[in-house]
Amino acid sequence: MKHVLLVQSDPAEAMAVRNALQGSSEAQFQVEWLRTLAEGLRRLADPSTGEVDAIVADVFLADSDGIGTFDGLFGAAPQIPILLLIDSTRQGVAKLAVHCGAQDYLLKSRFDDYLLPKAVSNMIERAAVADALYMEKERAQITLNSIGDAVISTDQGGAVSFLNQVAENLTGWTLEAAYGRPVDEVFRIIDGNTREPAQNPMALAMRENRTVGLTADCVLIRRDCSESPIEDSAAPIHDRQGNVTGAVMVFHDVSKARARSLKLSHLAQHDALTDLPNRSLFDDRLGRALALAQRHRSKLAILYVDIDRFKHVNDTSGHAVGDRLLQSIAQRLLGCIRNSDTVSRQGGDEFVILLGEVANAKDAALAAEKMLVALAGPHGIDDLQLRITASIGIATYPMDGIDGETLCKNADAAMYRAKNCGRNNFQFFKAEMNLHALERQDLETDLRHALERCEFELHYQPQVSLRTGAITGCEALLRWRHPTRRLVRPGRFIDIAEQSGLIVPMGRWVLHDACSQAQAWQGAGLPPVLMSVNVSAVELLAMNFVAGVRSALDHSGLAARHLAIEITETALMRDDESTRAVLQEISDIGVHIALDDFGTGYSSLSHLKRFPIDILKIDQTFVRHITTHEDDASIVGAMVRMGRSLHVLVVAEGVETHAQRMFLKRLQCPEAQGYFFGKPLLAGAFADRLARQPSADVRQPRASDARALAQR
Ligand code: C2E
Ligand code: MG
Ligand code: MG
Repeated sequence: MKHVLLVQSDPAEAMAVRNALQGSSEAQFQVEWLRTLAEGLRRLADPSTGEVDAIVADVFLADSDGIGTFDGLFGAAPQIPILLLIDSTRQGVAKLAVHCGAQDYLLKSRFDDYLLPKAVSNMIERAAVADALYMEKERAQITLNSIGDAVISTDQGGAVSFLNQVAENLTGWTLEAAYGRPVDEVFRIIDGNTREPAQNPMALAMRENRTVGLTADCVLIRRDCSESPIEDSAAPIHDRQGNVTGAVMVFHDVSKARARSLKLSHLAQHDALTDLPNRSLFDDRLGRALALAQRHRSKLAILYVDIDRFKHVNDTSGHAVGDRLLQSIAQRLLGCIRNSDTVSRQGGDEFVILLGEVANAKDAALAAEKMLVALAGPHGIDDLQLRITASIGIATYPMDGIDGETLCKNADAAMYRAKNCGRNNFQFFKAEMNLHALERQDLETDLRHALERCEFELHYQPQVSLRTGAITGCEALLRWRHPTRRLVRPGRFIDIAEQSGLIVPMGRWVLHDACSQAQAWQGAGLPPVLMSVNVSAVELLAMNFVAGVRSALDHSGLAARHLAIEITETALMRDDESTRAVLQEISDIGVHIALDDFGTGYSSLSHLKRFPIDILKIDQTFVRHITTHEDDASIVGAMVRMGRSLHVLVVAEGVETHAQRMFLKRLQCPEAQGYFFGKPLLAGAFADRLARQPSADVRQPRASDARALAQR
């Protein structure tokens, strides 16, 4: 049953309409008759009076005449279809009303029992279809606005017909502003790599009547000219017959995803601590730089920078400080290079620098010099002022290699050379360095087996009193009887042993063997002498060092006062509390402590007072020129006087000539050691030497060393 509102002032005409509708076989109508526009409007304004499916109205009512009748009714209920009844003379009004939204009109003279119900029922059906369509469109819009992707559609001519909200946000265009404009104006895209305008995929989709996939590296230029990387795809729109009537494009912002992937690739290529390029990125850049250098016949240089004794910073100040120091170093190095160069961290305290354009070797040397100076200034970390130095090795293309691997290997070899040359300097690669590196590798392999194969032996070098010439002690010096190299001196392998940790078991063997030897000589009736054993810092700080000393003494039966351990001044310079504690324990047992190579490590007087030192061994570099260089003579003189006033026994090392001996004697240096008095000897030869010595001479008092005397 359809409810029809009839608005008609003329009762006869109203009756005719009602009869026509209610008597129809077309549909069932219920007719509600209202006489004036005012009644009609009241009725429509009150929803409680029931739904209305259609309005049939005479344009000429008692209270309204003409288009105003339609306007009133349409304004009150735009969703209800309206059929107007009209005199044939007033068709203009009817046409105007239809233009403004009326569904239809009938001439009063024409309608009959068939035509009127037919017209009303058609009108109701059409309104229902339109309603459904409207709802559908609305639903589609809501759907398109709720998806996360941006959607733009165009008509066949490429004019924008729709933008969803995401598309509005992304392009910066509202649907209202974009509607009807050429899509290229609203959706402007470029190729992110070339920055050339990119082809709009919608045009292609329409032209080729197929879905067009992503445009690679597509960048959208928004209405305000800002940019966002997007991914897009477009498809043609078809009508029911399959004809292309437009195109739709779906796209989304990929800036976050791209930023994330950029970050990931940055992390994969950079060192997390310093943010410098890591080895893989460095290798990549080196490869490109080499290709360029080859093409342009230019040169490039690789600098290996290794921080001297960095481990010491970590050991004494902790890893957190070590890390901050590495960051500071990274910044200083970056300050020394051009933008086109690369500073990379290869792990640990090793940095590798690529200088992309060097005119000649001097440029690389200048850069290295600059870096040494930049690194040397104090690094303020918390309240610490840390000072460091570095050793730098340089290899240049094409002289020292034409491929990356060779260049890096050679720069590394040059860096080792810089370390061996006393650190805090730079060295250029030289071909013979590779031989050294190879030899070093071989030595390390062999060294691992040397101990179990009993290839080590100790030689003993006499120490004598300068006043009497008598032997007062000896220094045990390690020798390696290598199966193919004959006798290897410690200078060749101690470093390697320290770095590999092999020094600890080696040192333990030396200590045991030396103590046993000293005790054996005494057992054989030879006069007791002070046995000095060299100990490196690595050993000293290793676990159980003191226990090892005790065990060597217990095992051999040697009294502690006949043993001295020699540590180098540089080892002592580590000024570590644990070094001091270990030395104190050793000293408390009664073992003497000698400071070896004195003068080379810049230790201060406060150092000497802080540590329990009994003996100072003046380094041979000072003794060598004592008779020819005034400076050295006065330095040695000062050392002797200082030793005397600190009650420490002074031993001059490396005495080779009679003149040196006499000079030292005049300076009142108490004791000496050197080739002049005797080269290092095997135990048997040393025992013979000791035995030949007139017994009265053996234990001459050391006037200058009250403390040592007291303990012996
Ligand atoms: P060092 O403790 O200063 O030992 C003195 C070095 O000078 C020895 O070299 C000795 O042979 C050499 N020498 C002695 N008199 C003269 C001389 O008149 N002229 C010259 N030119 N040289 C002289 P060597 O045996 O090659 O030892 C070198 C260094 O190796 C030692 O220096 C010491 O620091 C280290 N070393 C030796 N044995 C051991 C050991 O068992 N353990 C550890 N950790 N280091 C050792
Ligand atoms: Mg020594
Ligand atoms: Mg020495």
